[in-house]
Amino acid sequence: MGIVKKIEYDSGVEGKSLVVLGAVHGNEKCGTQAILRMAKELDNGCLKLKHGTLVMVPITNQKAYNQNVRFVDRNLNRQLHPSHQGKGYEDQINSELCAILESTDVLLDLHSYASQGGPFIFLGGGNQAENDFAKALGVNDFVYGWQEAFGNANTQVDPYESMGTTEYTRYVGGIGVTLECGHHYNDDAPDVGYKAIINALVHLQMLEGEGSFIKDDYRCVHMKLAFYKEKAGKLAKQWKHYDSVKKGQVLAEYEDDKKIVAPEDGYIILPKLDAEIGKEWFFFGVGSEFPD
Ligand SMILES: [Zn+2]
Repeated sequence: MGIVKKIEYDSGVEGKSLVVLGAVHGNEKCGTQAILRMAKELDNGCLKLKHGTLVMVPITNQKAYNQNVRFVDRNLNRQLHPSHQGKGYEDQINSELCAILESTDVLLDLHSYASQGGPFIFLGGGNQAENDFAKALGVNDFVYGWQEAFGNANTQVDPYESMGTTEYTRYVGGIGVTLECGHHYNDDAPDVGYKAIINALVHLQMLEGEGSFIKDDYRCVHMKLAFYKEKAGKLAKQWKHYDSVKKGQVLAEYEDDKKIVAPEDGYIILPKLDAEIGKEWFFFGVGSEFPD
């Protein structure tokens, strides 16, 4: 018996396989609620799969979920790879989670975040099928360039550092996106997640119906830089996710007066007001078309 508990629905008819993950980070519980609502509707017959297989993991990181923390020993959504060796709790989840991702075609990973802001989707780069899937989920804001941003970080980052659930899915030939359903405590976050599951199933022709939540006014940001907090300091203001900034504007300031300024006009991505020294602080990106 593994430690990752999954719920599986097989339509018995050929089609795509979709995996939906909740609580990869233990304190991000909107995905769990969204998945359990979906499971209830499939169990009571309100909804019925017409094609393919749906796999859902309501709580991917159970121990962190129980403690209401992001992770126990290490961030499960970094350095996710079967070759990863370690003795921590998340290291035990690693290979089981990778096996699930290897066995499915498409991943929808439901998260929430600590900055103030609304829902958005992390895209990979330049996969049309993945872009189309992401655009069908009912969310307007998109960010891509995660791995590139880590490559341009202001500190040396392990090459596997940026490999999380979606990166591993792409690595093994699937498509996948992370949906950040909003701030951890946004009331509508579970609903954003639930609607995205429905829309995903409709888009993949696994469920009868229409994706009724699709909008056209998309915004896309290309992430360029990851900033780690090197020493004592603070953000120049209480940034919100997706705040726009001008070239030369001060983004953060260290106590020794060293400043981080915007290299060009762009956007603040996922600012952490209370980041610890040595940890991810915020990201910087520029407005963009969808990656192609
Ligand atoms: Zn998360």
